[in-house]
Order: sequence, then structure tokens, then C-alpha cells
Amino acid sequence: MKLIFLGPPGAGKGTIASRICEEFEIPHISTGDLFRKAIKEQTDLGKKVQAIIESGDLVPDSLTVELVKERLDKQDVEKGYILDGFPRTIVQADALSEFSSVDAVINFTITDEQVIKRLAGRRLCKACGAGYHVDTIKPKKEGICDKCGGELIIRPDDAPEAIKNRLSVYYKSTEPLIDYYSNKNLIKDVDGSGAVDKVIKDTRAIIASM
Ligand code: AMP
Repeated sequence: MKLIFLGPPGAGKGTIASRICEEFEIPHISTGDLFRKAIKEQTDLGKKVQAIIESGDLVPDSLTVELVKERLDKQDVEKGYILDGFPRTIVQADALSEFSSVDAVINFTITDEQVIKRLAGRRLCKACGAGYHVDTIKPKKEGICDKCGGELIIRPDDAPEAIKNRLSVYYKSTEPLIDYYSNKNLIKDVDGSGAVDKVIKDTRAIIASM
């Protein structure tokens, strides 16, 4: 099962992908998470991409494609995977088609107003990267990660200016992928605006029908 999760920032791709991947025992490959790990570890890649990511712009295609290609070379992808946040441009989608097939592209739909509300309330564990939300995915203890006890922080690219930029980048560079994958009969829409459990149920139903 090789899936792409598509949708604007804040559509819930990461939350839904991590739950579905756990259930189906396949890797959750999030380019955003891979970049954030590189930044945390201050690797060469991390230093190169830090300012780009904090501003909400896209990392150059060449760097991103290389990262995903290397990740898909690992043994654990044999049973399939979910790509979360990749591809984000037509160039990346064309590159992906040269090294992997895709079974379906799940497109999570959500309005701009909901995106802004969700991202402004989003929190992230500084230590393990787990995601939370001040209204909808609360940790047991405020400001502390349930999974590892790490500190919950606001992502720098969830600041209001960066959110605006990320939405405009989405419309310019990523939204065209809906047509790109519709033309290949791969798009399956899921309403991403509801509660997490409802979105997961709808996503599971699509997977079951494949
Ligand atoms: P995300 O966690 O998916 O919202 O990604 C966070 C940030 O990482 C994005 O705003 C981009 O700066 C960068 N990024 C993640 N995936 C990609 C991609 N496929 N292409 C370019 N930049 C990306």
C-alpha cells in the first residue's frame, strides 16, 4: 500500500498518517519531520534548510527528492508507506514517478479559515516531534508530551506570517497536484475538517475499497 497524503498545511495529514501507519504497520514518511530532525541535529542539510522552513517557503526540489529517494531505499518500505507532505510540486511528483509507483493519493480538504485556526493552536513536542492542539488534541498535562515528557512548543513556521506564506505556497505549487493525480485517476478526497476519529474512519474506508 503506497499512499500519498495531500492537502494544505494543517489539513491533518501528519496526525492521520501516524495513526494509519501504526495500524497497518507501514512507515510514515514525512519530509517535514525529516527536515526538522536534520535541523535539530544541525546536520549540513539542517543548516541549509532551517531559514527556508521557518519562513514557510519550500525547500528546493533537488534536496527534497534526494532525501525521499534515500528514504525509500530502506528495507522497511517493502509493505508500503505513506508519504506525508511529499510531493509538493509537479517536479517532485515527476521525480517520484521514476523511482516509485503510487496506489492512491488521499486529498484532505479543509477551508483556509480552518487552516489558520488549526495551525495557530498547534503544538509540537520539542523532543520526539509528536503533534498536539490546544483545543482538539490536548496532552494530559499542559505543555508536556504524553509520549516522552518533552516540552511542547509552537513551530516557528506556525507563526502568523509564516502561515500566510505557507498557504500561498500551497496554492501556487502544491494544489496543481490535485489535477496532476486526478488525470492519473489516483485522487481520493477526504473531508479533513471533522474530528480526528471521523477523518481516520473515512480514510480507512478508502483504503478498504482499494
Ligand atoms: P510540513 O511539516 O509537511 O508542514 O513541512 C514543513 C516545512 O518543510 C514546509 O513548510 C517546507 O518548508 C518543508 N517541506 C516539507 N516537505 C517539503 C517538500 N515536499 N518540498 C519542499 N519543502 C518541503
